[in-house]
Amino acid sequence: MKGGKLIIFSAPSGSGKTTIVKHLLKQPELNLAFSVSATSRARRGKEKDGEHYYFLHVSEFKKHIKNDNFLEWEEVYRDNFYGTLKSEVERLWAEGKNVIFDIDVVGGLRIKKKFPKETLAVFVKPPSVDELKIRLKKRSTESDDKINMRIAKASVELATAPQFDIIINNYDLETALNEAHTLVADFVGADKSINEE
Ligand code: 5GP
Repeated sequence: MKGGKLIIFSAPSGSGKTTIVKHLLKQPELNLAFSVSATSRARRGKEKDGEHYYFLHVSEFKKHIKNDNFLEWEEVYRDNFYGTLKSEVERLWAEGKNVIFDIDVVGGLRIKKKFPKETLAVFVKPPSVDELKIRLKKRSTESDDKINMRIAKASVELATAPQFDIIINNYDLETALNEAHTLVADFVGADKSINEE
């Protein structure tokens, strides 16, 4: 497998990484395409198959594991598998794109290890675990149990931050968006000023 760059955004859920990734995808000079992950978790809200995730049955997911079709995969929560299909990255690289990932910390670090030179691994840090709780409750797409599961995982994830190439503190969204844009532009060798008035 070879091609463009890989940009990883990892963070506890509720940290704002998805907002940052969406913002970056709108910047044409970065030439980014989103890596759609496969998952066995249930669909939430307005999520679309093939756009937000490839929604697979647990048995289909396990078959892909057996056939070595994943670049990385993880049982992020019990029976909730998530993974990056090799075919997804190959497809986007064939289109000449740089690939951006919104994945969990373990998966992110795995990809970085497989492609150390091609990868920029960014950790997005939330202001605090309490603030995370508030953000997840506001999103209100999940039960309290599921939210508590995410919070418990967040503390473990925060401890991995130093293993990333860079940490973005998401205390103020506007600042975090700008910082992310500059970082990625530098890494892919794009001229960020093209888009600025
Ligand atoms: P959610 O259920 O909120 O969409 O995602 C739960 C967690 O799984 C998030 O931390 C998300 O970044 C992570 N995730 C999404 N796709 C992948 C993937 O392909 N691989 C890994 N390892 N984690 C993923």
